[in-house]
Order: sequence, then structure tokens, then C-alpha cells
Amino acid sequence: MKWTFVLSMYLTILISSKVGEINSCRMLNAINTNISFVGRNEWGARDPKLVEKFSGQIPFVIIHHSYRPAVSFDSAECGKAMRIMQDMHQLTNDWNDIGYSFAICGDGKIYQGRGYNVIGAHAPRYNDKSIGICLIGDWRFELPPEQMLKATKDLIAYSLENGYLSPNYKVLGHRQVRATECPGQRLYEEIATWDHYSKTPSGPSDTNIPPY
Ligand SMILES: [Zn+2]
Repeated sequence: MKWTFVLSMYLTILISSKVGEINSCRMLNAINTNISFVGRNEWGARDPKLVEKFSGQIPFVIIHHSYRPAVSFDSAECGKAMRIMQDMHQLTNDWNDIGYSFAICGDGKIYQGRGYNVIGAHAPRYNDKSIGICLIGDWRFELPPEQMLKATKDLIAYSLENGYLSPNYKVLGHRQVRATECPGQRLYEEIATWDHYSKTPSGPSDTNIPPY
């Protein structure tokens, strides 16, 4: 009995130290990529009607533009743009929440939408296997400003370092999985130069497209 107790204590300590190791490792990684999220409370989000999760490392990053609202450079305006998009998605379209996982604004900040591993409403058939990132603005003819591109790349790096993204993830433009001009021609040309951009989606089959 005594030895069983000692053994179980030893195992408990061993397991706890392992967990501690993983946590401190994650913290270090988070420091490596210096990013700041604007949380839902900060931009005045309404609660989601429903949160549906999916598990595992995420294989795809899908890039969008908002087209409207237009780009803003001021944080107060960026918060307003988030609320406008949430209104369109949650009230007009009757979805659970803003469709995207995250959005990037002209102030160079990362705004939390649905977040990681929550089923989105931004790319049919990929909503339960992607991080949907919207670069707020119309990027058909103009490239998003440098701070927006940097924030997007930082978010991808952070997601990878912290184990949310699969190491062999693919970056796709919305237009590759849906008949749409999104994320705008100029932005699409840009992401086509990024590491992990994939010319072929190689995702789920293209049948049974849901109505969003
Ligand atoms: Zn899109």
C-alpha cells in the first residue's frame, strides 16, 4: 500500500512538471511573436447566439477582405467596423456571430471574431477546418498597408507557434473555395507570394455548397 502511494505521488509530480513545461514553452512562444489582440469586449461585440467548436490543429488559413466597411486607421473606427460586420452577419444574415475568426484593421491590430477552433461562417466547407482572417477594406486595386499585412503574418506565426495551426497548413484566398472576388485581386496577388500559399485548395470536395 505504502509503495503504491509513493509511486502515485511520483507519477503525479512527473505529470505536473510535464504540464508546467508545456505551459512555460507556450508562454515563451507567445513572447516570440509580439502581437496584441483586441478582445470582443474591447470592440463592443454582442455575445454569439451559439458557439460550435471543432477540435485538432487547423489545416487552412482563409484570407478575406470586407470590401465594405472601408479601411479605417483609427482604433475607434476599427471597433465600429467590427460592430457593423457583426450586425450584418448576426442580425441581417441571422448567423450565430460575426463570420470570421479574426479581422485585421488599418490600425495594425488583430480583432477577435469567433476565435480559434470555433466553426465560422466565412467559407463553405472550410468553416470547421480553417482560421478565417478578414483584412478590413476593399483590396481589389490597392494593397493593404504594411501594418495590416504584418499583423496578418504575425497572427499566422503566432497561431503556428502556439499549436493552433497545423505545421503544414495552407493559405488560401476565399475565391479559391467559393465563387467570389474576395479577397480582392490585389490582395490575392499578394498572398499568392506567401509561404504556405497553395494554388490548389486540396480540401473537401466542391459539392453541396451551403448558402453562405
Ligand atoms: Zn471572403
